[in-house]
Amino acid sequence: MIDFELSEDMRGMRDMINQVADQTMRPISRQFDEEEHTDPTEWQQMMWDVSKGASIFGGGPEKSDKKSSKEKKSLGTSKPSERNVGATVTIEELSWGDAGLYLSIPNAGLGGAAVMAAGTPDQKKRFMARFGEGDPKWAAMAITEPGFGSDSAAVATTAVRDGDQWVLNGTKIFCTSGQRALDKSEGFVVVWATVDKAAGRAGIKAFVVEHDTPGVTVTKVEDKLGIRCSDTAAIVLEDARIPLDNVLGDPEVLTASKKGFKGAMATFDATRPAVAASAIGIGRAAVDFVRDELVKAGVEIRYETPVMKQTAIERDFMDMEANLQAARLLTWRAAWMMDRGMQNNLEASMCKSKAGLAVTEVTQKAVEILGPLGYSRKLLLEKWMRDAKINDIFEGTQQINLMIVARRILDYSSSELN
Ligand SMILES: Cc1cc2nc3c(=O)[nH]c(=O)nc-3n(C[C@H](O)[C@H](O)[C@H](O)COP(=O)(O)OP(=O)(O)OC[C@H]3O[C@@H](n4cnc5c(N)ncnc54)[C@H](O)[C@@H]3O)c2cc1C
Repeated sequence: MIDFELSEDMRGMRDMINQVADQTMRPISRQFDEEEHTDPTEWQQMMWDVSKGASIFGGGPEKSDKKSSKEKKSLGTSKPSERNVGATVTIEELSWGDAGLYLSIPNAGLGGAAVMAAGTPDQKKRFMARFGEGDPKWAAMAITEPGFGSDSAAVATTAVRDGDQWVLNGTKIFCTSGQRALDKSEGFVVVWATVDKAAGRAGIKAFVVEHDTPGVTVTKVEDKLGIRCSDTAAIVLEDARIPLDNVLGDPEVLTASKKGFKGAMATFDATRPAVAASAIGIGRAAVDFVRDELVKAGVEIRYETPVMKQTAIERDFMDMEANLQAARLLTWRAAWMMDRGMQNNLEASMCKSKAGLAVTEVTQKAVEILGPLGYSRKLLLEKWMRDAKINDIFEGTQQINLMIVARRILDYSSSELN
């Protein structure tokens, strides 16, 4: 049987998170867009207090059995079988509130997703348990370098084994939450580096670099078009020494196999649906806003009207809603597959490419429909249009994700279709 309805529990959770978004995120949205590089510290502490121990990202920290059900339900769903679908629902609501603030919530984030995708059971425990306790903290993931973005096999940062340590050298750029992760006690960045450049992809592994590692420096934090509350850091690693077992996976097996790169790539299967969900949240914020403004102006959307009798506004508005709903269903499918331990590489790229494009189209159309009002900084609509675009860029651009979809459907290898 096919069921596209969310469970009652999940709907309850969604409504609760929507209230959090409406009451705590929307009121500070403009302020932290204008004040780029200022941390919304009080709000972050409050979010940490309510969400501690619960993962926003699917594939995040394992829950401790000791947690009360009240705590578990605070952000995210308590049912393991709905964990990733729950994550996409949570992320949509938080991003409906504000996508930059959502990315600023203290959380295991992308770094945690990498640990969960590629780490050993011991590493998952070691690096993730801290997200259930203590002070607010972040984990980030650094792949992109000055010399590449899309072509992740071009990693030039090196990791050289020296006894029971790895020595890392290189530069990483555009690392989301990189500064927050390295600033805070117990934060970490998962750095992709090569142990053997000649081995190509097989030589690339993911390394956990802790916040207090000597030789690791944040050299820049980007000024951006959108998601301005989220920090995007450049990080330089100069003879940064980390323990041998901070390479994700078993170090002895990894140095001789392709397993490390595959594990690292599997991170994207978890994070692409999360990015898609964020895109849908921003798009829905715009659609909800336009709907309210149309109602105020006495414009009714007549869903039952035949196409030839619809007004241009009706047609545009229904297109916006349909576009987002198509993206949402693809996203839920990719997450649902993860919840069942199914391989979702194709579906993760499908939902990410669709949602990234949908949100840019929907937010632009929303600004267009409202005209000068949409363009004004008095409202958040112009901000949502700026926040939207990143979803079409990070975690693989739209073009790269479409190429992955084509490879999977046509059964081409990455060397045959690139
Ligand atoms: C705000 C922000 C946050 C980010 N956060 C992170 C992070 O946390 N960690 C991290 O590692 N990186 C992060 N990134 C980097 C991001 O993932 C890359 O920018 C992205 O993958 C694109 O890489 P690039 O910038 O080098 O563009 P390029 O790879 O140079 O691509 C430029 C254009 O060419 C297209 N293109 C490239 N190759 C092909 C091809 N084979 N076929 C067709 N078209 C192609 C692309 O789609 C794109 O439109 C972030 C970037 C931004 C802007």
